[in-house]
Amino acid sequence: MTDATELRRRTQELLAAHPPASTGRTAFLEARFDAGLAWVHYPAGLGGLDAPRSLQAVVDAELAAAGAPDNDPRRIGIGLGMAAPTILAYGTEEQKRRFLRPLWVGQEVWCQLFSEPGAGSDLAALGTRAVRDGDTWVVNGQKVWTSSAHVARWAILIARTDPDVPKHRGITYFLCDMTDPGVEVRPLRQITGEAEFNEVFLTDVRIPDAHRLGEVGDGWKVAQTTLNNERVAIGGARIPREGGMIGTVSRTWRERPELRTHDLHQRLLDLWVDAEVARMTGERLRQQLVAGQPGPEGSGMKLAFARLNQEISGLEVELLGEEGLLYGDWTMRRPELVDFTGRDAGYRYLRSKGNSIEGGTSEVLLNIVAERVLGLPPEPRNDKDVAWKDLAR
Ligand SMILES: Cc1cc2nc3c(=O)[nH]c(=O)nc-3n(C[C@H](O)[C@H](O)[C@H](O)COP(=O)(O)OP(=O)(O)OC[C@H]3O[C@@H](n4cnc5c(N)ncnc54)[C@H](O)[C@@H]3O)c2cc1C
Repeated sequence: MTDATELRRRTQELLAAHPPASTGRTAFLEARFDAGLAWVHYPAGLGGLDAPRSLQAVVDAELAAAGAPDNDPRRIGIGLGMAAPTILAYGTEEQKRRFLRPLWVGQEVWCQLFSEPGAGSDLAALGTRAVRDGDTWVVNGQKVWTSSAHVARWAILIARTDPDVPKHRGITYFLCDMTDPGVEVRPLRQITGEAEFNEVFLTDVRIPDAHRLGEVGDGWKVAQTTLNNERVAIGGARIPREGGMIGTVSRTWRERPELRTHDLHQRLLDLWVDAEVARMTGERLRQQLVAGQPGPEGSGMKLAFARLNQEISGLEVELLGEEGLLYGDWTMRRPELVDFTGRDAGYRYLRSKGNSIEGGTSEVLLNIVAERVLGLPPEPRNDKDVAWKDLAR
């Protein structure tokens, strides 16, 4: 049984064998993975020790106290939060061994090739085609809003392999090499002026069958693991009390008394309480995760995250008055990660608009909560039994 004492002992052993001060960052992270201290709830040999997920905090605290480098989780969020749990759940042994170590260490960045121009909320309507040719699949189509595609080495991809069956049934899940010559990545400029996401054109991309994840035609089921984890990854990050955006605006309130008004005070207090409730709900959700896979409850967290980010960043802009309208830099940058707290108020205000769209729109998440958490009657779905090729487009 791997308990907290055992994890502390193993962590100290790792630190003694690879002192952070004299070990390169990548070498340290690889050694940490090999010692099973990367994600302790993963299986032994794959970066974990089959330990309870809640004990990860014990390892993280010991390593932070020793000044050990981390794997910069924000830079590799799609890999850690979405690709890894899906590969773990559906991958072959060979796939798990090939992909999980460089993913966790951060040597290989991942992106998500799901959304298409005609398939976002209705993702199962996607039209990117994968046609089998011996041991490979030939993929043609267009994806859109692909965050991090410009820095990604691999992508999780869903494509249509059977147009003759209803839309949810003819999809297959693949791991796509972004360096394949048929993959073309073009920047998409956002309201912030940056291009953190992209259009991705796939032209005769050849994916070996060995890079199929799950059974042919089972892609929708496999994608549910990704999507449930995505909502937790976007809305469920652990933050300290008065951390994140509410921390930034509270600090401004304390440090700049000349900006204060009675109305804004009341709104700040309301949002402070809402942010604390969301934070504690997140803690509860994480405790549930310890016991199993994320369910639709993650949708509730992601909903609250989007609403709070938009309302808090709006309050901050109002509080700062004219200063809040300043926007530092409109040059089109290609950031590797989204940094909410290290930027100015204008950036936070503009970037948080996307929070109610990415990872499922708030309207769609409300439907999920209504149907799967509250058990309310489902939306009418007339196309459930119609072959994808016969759907109106
Ligand atoms: C910042 C950002 C990053 C993203 N990153 C990625 C990524 O890396 N990879 C990826 O694959 N995708 C990514 N996306 C895409 C995102 O998942 C889609 O934009 C989203 O699912 C919505 O799809 P859509 O844009 O096609 O809008 P649509 O589905 O066309 O929706 C349009 C409007 O109709 C509403 N609507 C649609 N269906 C219903 C319904 N049944 N009930 C009520 N209202 C409905 C929606 O809420 C929305 O307001 C990203 C998006 C953003 C904003």
